[in-house]
Amino acid sequence: MTPPAPEPLAADAPWIVMKFGGTSVATLPRWQNIRELVAGRRTEGARVLVVVSALTGITDALKQLCAEVDAGKRSEATRTIAQRHYELLEHMQLALPDTLGTRLHDLAQLAADGPAATGELAWQAQVQAHGELMSSALGAAFLSHSGLATEWLDARDCLTAVALPNQNERTRLLSSMVDSRHDPRLAARLAGLGEVFITQGFIAREGASEKGAGRTVLLGRGGSDTSASYFGALLKAQRVEIWTDVAGMFTANPRQVPGARLLQKLDYEEAQEIASTGAKVLHPRCLSPLREPRVPLLIKDTNRPELDGTVIGPEVREHAPSVKAISARKNITLVSMESVGMWQQVGFLADVFAQFKQHGLSVDLIGSAETNVTVSLDPTENLLDSDAIAALATDLAKVCRVKVIAPCAAITLVGRGMRSLLHTLSGVLAEFGQLRVHLISQSSNNLNLTFVVDEEVVDTLLPHLHELLIAAGALRTDDSALFGPSWQALYGSGELPAPAAAWWHAGQRPRLLQLAAEATPRYVYHLPTVRQQARELKSLAAVDRLHYAVKANTHPAILRALAQEGFGFECVSPGELKAVLATVPDTAPLLFTPNFAPRDDYAWALTTRASVSLDALYPLEHWGELFRGREIVLRVDLGRGLGHHEKVRTGGAGSKFGLPVEQLDAFLRLADVHGVSVRGLHAHLGSGILDDAHWGEVYAQLASLAERIGSVAFIDIGGGLGVPSHPGEARLDIAALDRVLREVKAAYPHYQLWMEPGRYLVADAGVLLTRVTQQKGKSALRYLGVDTGMNSLIRPALYDAWHEIVNLTRLDEPATALYQVVGPICESGDVLGTDRRLPEAQEGDVMLIAQAGAYGKVMSSPYNLRDEAEEVVLDD
Ligand code: ADP
Ligand code: ASP
Ligand code: MG
Repeated sequence: MTPPAPEPLAADAPWIVMKFGGTSVATLPRWQNIRELVAGRRTEGARVLVVVSALTGITDALKQLCAEVDAGKRSEATRTIAQRHYELLEHMQLALPDTLGTRLHDLAQLAADGPAATGELAWQAQVQAHGELMSSALGAAFLSHSGLATEWLDARDCLTAVALPNQNERTRLLSSMVDSRHDPRLAARLAGLGEVFITQGFIAREGASEKGAGRTVLLGRGGSDTSASYFGALLKAQRVEIWTDVAGMFTANPRQVPGARLLQKLDYEEAQEIASTGAKVLHPRCLSPLREPRVPLLIKDTNRPELDGTVIGPEVREHAPSVKAISARKNITLVSMESVGMWQQVGFLADVFAQFKQHGLSVDLIGSAETNVTVSLDPTENLLDSDAIAALATDLAKVCRVKVIAPCAAITLVGRGMRSLLHTLSGVLAEFGQLRVHLISQSSNNLNLTFVVDEEVVDTLLPHLHELLIAAGALRTDDSALFGPSWQALYGSGELPAPAAAWWHAGQRPRLLQLAAEATPRYVYHLPTVRQQARELKSLAAVDRLHYAVKANTHPAILRALAQEGFGFECVSPGELKAVLATVPDTAPLLFTPNFAPRDDYAWALTTRASVSLDALYPLEHWGELFRGREIVLRVDLGRGLGHHEKVRTGGAGSKFGLPVEQLDAFLRLADVHGVSVRGLHAHLGSGILDDAHWGEVYAQLASLAERIGSVAFIDIGGGLGVPSHPGEARLDIAALDRVLREVKAAYPHYQLWMEPGRYLVADAGVLLTRVTQQKGKSALRYLGVDTGMNSLIRPALYDAWHEIVNLTRLDEPATALYQVVGPICESGDVLGTDRRLPEAQEGDVMLIAQAGAYGKVMSSPYNLRDEAEEVVLDD
């Protein structure tokens, strides 16, 4: 039964502009969706203007037709194009409407005539305009036939192109701009004609006062979005909706980065920056018409209208500062201009830029040095062709030495306040360190940071950089008010990647609340999680011996659990060694690996069963007698460090650990003098490493050193196995690590392979429970106080470490507040988490700080003489 027709609309009913892209108008099911969506908006009481693109692929086909010199081939092309439309009509069970018939006829005529009469560019514009003219005619017929009375509108009668200074003919005709100041007369005129309209994207007409007035012009490839915005601004619409084949703007092109996250809310400036730096989902010019009238823009998926989409509107400052997206533009041309002593030459820059103006080319990025200026030309703005660039280069050569570098790609990080995020980007910057970077530019609006690199590296680099941004906490995917699900989660095969960590505490809430009711602050450790991690590492077939690096957590229950799992223990002080000796069976292997320890520490350790490790010449130079006849382990520095923070990197000249490889011969001579035998070689580059290849490289390097030494029986490749902490961050791939280790082991099978993980075994197993004490507002910031801070957990203050924070009392309430979670210690650095999206909290709420099992309690201090957190162990 057809629903009753809605009440007629008042003359001043609000407007909604709905733009449907090429894939959204190419099939019958999509048109059925369009019908439902449009009818829905009408029923809500809005007048609807539908803007359509050409059917997907048709603009490309028309462009190809234009490039064809042979009239016969052009006519053939029009027949293929017509066929696409006939097929869709057939699916719609519609006869050819006259409106479409006329268009097809006109197109055939244009193709037959060729450009002679109108001029090449004007003819191209007319031909390409037919894509949208045809799709809109077809759409009008379908919608009206399906019971939704729809008026067909010629967009050229509403959108008038403006002539801009320095615009060349090509840009004027093929990439034009439109005057879109609010025009109440247009709204009034249309309101007199009907309630639902359909019109074309991509096309407009030259204004009456211009030379060649009345010619059809185009708005640039992808410009239908911009048509919708022009209409939105002219009509001062309630909103503009862009319906496409993805649910919105993502943090990266989702076809390239499946882990890209949906951006739920953006302000005009950020969205503009993402669009103009490569995100094809919005035409770069489509936001500026909406800014002044403050018309919001919504991006939605035509095929999945139930998904939330992206809302773009005036600025809202309620989010954590974050990189919002990483985008890439290919096909960038760089022009490098060299002139000796140019800064002394008054007017040099004016001269070179005059040439760009002359050739109608707009400059995008600029980098300068004493004798060189390098600029980039963006193809979307410039409609580049090789002739234009060659002509420019010829003219520039008169004033400087010119080099054209292409094809390049520009990779851009976008986010408001980019400069305040720089400290989080060291890992990302390090990636660029390995590439040829032609230009780096930071936009003066502080919204973007761009790197121009060779084009071929982009496809593999982008997913990697996206991951690094999440891992570094630069892309704050934890802020659920801003970052929606990943593309993979929304559209993937249904198999979601494993969550960052299977949090044991999710299932233990009542118990944890009870423990917190007894006392806070409290550390709670979950032994089954320790065992599970231990067993995972025991599956590494190539590893002969695993030692737990006890500095991560020395709780006796954890030591016992790991001894039961067959682990040895790595200790860095007599205190640790004593704790282990007092707790674990005397069959457990022990390592003593101190750094800058006093003589007495070694003297005592040598009385135990621990293997003692040295990492400097000094002990043998000065206390050689102590080690006479002993077997020792030598820790070397492989010259580089790795890890999640500068302070946890333990290799390279900047770190105090390890014997530099160039001192190896001197060490071996000393060992010889004292009858010391080097039985083991050890290296540890840092902590929080998630790259499985790393340990293979370490083994191979140590093994090749071991070949030189002769007496080595085992190689200890250290620990540092990372545990991801940010939502969406990938876990270390243990199966891949297994493959890597098996491979290197096969190359050097005569050494035993040892490892010494710490954090990996215990981080996820521990949480810190604390209670809300007070709250405070300070300008835009909200502070949430809890009853312990850096005295119990110093990692956030020391390493900027990220720990997930959960309000255990209000687990089911919506996370609407943005808090700075702070402790009671008299230090500004006493912050446990910045910009955390959490439910509105109240005094006494129990907060859980996750991943606190490693380097939590062991690094706590009596600072401010606050009570230390107690420790509780759960065995099930
Ligand atoms: P339409 O034909 O509907 O105008 P487009 O192909 O122009 O659609 O734009 C949608 C496409 O934009 C998506 O399918 C996706 O491949 C691409 N895209 C590039 N970057 C992004 C991004 N950051 N977010 C969403 N989509 C993006
Ligand atoms: N049909 C035009 C193009 O393919 C405009 C658009 O779809 O936005 O570029
Ligand atoms: Mg598009």
